Amino acid sequence: MAVHRWIRELLILLLTTLLGIAVASLWQQWLVGLTVALALYLAYSLLQLWRLDRWAKHPDRALPPHAPAQWGAVFDHLYRYQRKQRRRQEQLRQVIGRFDRLSEALSDGMVVITQRDTLDNWNAAAGRLLGFKYPHDRSQHVTNLLRHPLFVEYFATGNFDDPLVIKSPTDESRWLQFQIITYGNNERLMVVRDITRLQRLQEMRRDFVANVSHELRTPLTVFTGYLEPLAAHADTLLPPRMSKGVEQMQQQANRMRHLIDDLLMLSRLENEQTLSPLTPVNVTSLMQRAYEDGVALSQGRQQLTLTLDSDKQLLGDEEQLRSAVTNLVSNAVRYAGDNRNITLSWNETAAGEGRLSIADDGEGIDSHHLARLTERFYRVDKGRSSATGGTGLGLAIVKHVMLRHQGELDIESTLGRGSCFTLSFPAQRLHQDDSVLREQ
Ligand code: ADP
Repeated sequence: MAVHRWIRELLILLLTTLLGIAVASLWQQWLVGLTVALALYLAYSLLQLWRLDRWAKHPDRALPPHAPAQWGAVFDHLYRYQRKQRRRQEQLRQVIGRFDRLSEALSDGMVVITQRDTLDNWNAAAGRLLGFKYPHDRSQHVTNLLRHPLFVEYFATGNFDDPLVIKSPTDESRWLQFQIITYGNNERLMVVRDITRLQRLQEMRRDFVANVSHELRTPLTVFTGYLEPLAAHADTLLPPRMSKGVEQMQQQANRMRHLIDDLLMLSRLENEQTLSPLTPVNVTSLMQRAYEDGVALSQGRQQLTLTLDSDKQLLGDEEQLRSAVTNLVSNAVRYAGDNRNITLSWNETAAGEGRLSIADDGEGIDSHHLARLTERFYRVDKGRSSATGGTGLGLAIVKHVMLRHQGELDIESTLGRGSCFTLSFPAQRLHQDDSVLREQ
């Protein structure tokens, strides 16, 4: 078919040329005849080109013009190609439309973020939850519109393994969870979920635990208030069997007090939605006190060493930091075993991060327990923990303190060799005390 059309085209050219030459030969001017014939063929070709150009400008208005021989084939090819493209476009439009309708129907917000951290596109839910206005906010930097300090920091770190939960920028009473997924060439999809209901349930649970703990404090104070003088004079006032009972009651009351204190501390830490303040805390004296408390608790059963290789202060909450360190030291003393070494150290890494660690060469912990150690009430050896006055909340408190301080708790332990609990603080939490600089 295609070859056939080409032959016809060549025949048109040949016949025009021959006719021109034949007619002009009558006057013995065959060259003029050839020129006129070729000029006519050129004019015919230009005419077809002009028609093609006119049609190509508005191909959807009309069918392509009819043309003889190869020009007709060119028009047909272009027409078929154009129809195929149009069908493909329609299919694509339908797919995009389906995705658009799907994303509009989602109750979760979806935001596409470009490589340059600007907003590209978002669905209706994202507009509602985050207050983005289309097209005004398009191409804006994400942190220009989401200015919550926790979000700005979360976005800057680029570590999106865990979702972020903050209050909604448009409605203070609502809670939003942000999860960022990186795909393609560093483009990101941000999924925003309204978790107000879940958050309220958790708040209710936390309030319940805090209230119960608080309510238990008063009867416990009365109880221990009577117990103390009784225990102090048990030898003279009570028969031996009862004095043993009073001693045990006092021990359990103390345990209960510790448990209530830890529960209240944990619920306070959980309720705080902001990072801990940037107040300078003197780590040297904090570690010194933890060391002295450890020595007193150990009563000579272990050898404690304090190594201070940095004079930097920490920016944070002193009470929380003290509680974290005290918990770790008390754990080392209670679990390492007798005649062991415990080392408390404070130093700075080459990258300027702070490392506070409590290491012991005691019994260690089997590796399968390590991932769960910071869960509330998780104990490796329940009997031992209770016997040594443990509440099962110590490491959960340490973990929360570190979250508030943008740091991490790292646990390394080998059974039979010992354990090392390291608190790592980011460089921005370290602070050089001016008085130390002046002394130097
Ligand atoms: P607890 O109040 O029971 O001590 P923690 O949360 O402080 O609770 O610790 C959880 C568990 O981790 C403890 O029950 C103990 O089994 C284990 N553990 C903590 N520190 C050490 C340590 N230095 N050596 C061995 N085991 C430890």
